[in-house]
Amino acid sequence: MNDSTTLLTCLNCGRSEQQVPLVALRYNQTPGWICSQCLPILIHQPQRLAGKLKGAENLPPAAEH
Ligand SMILES: [Zn+2]
Repeated sequence: MNDSTTLLTCLNCGRSEQQVPLVALRYNQTPGWICSQCLPILIHQPQRLAGKLKGAENLPPAAEH
């Protein structure tokens, strides 16, 4: 497996690093990438990533202020 030739994509919307900036993350020992536009979903509505990010259904959303 050669990551240098793999086109990275957002785990939520599937857009590639050539279309949007991707942010690296890790959760449950699993690395992943999420784009800047989907990052607020991870912060505020992580349950919406269930099935896309392993264990996301167990993530508490950030407190609203
Ligand atoms: Zn995205």
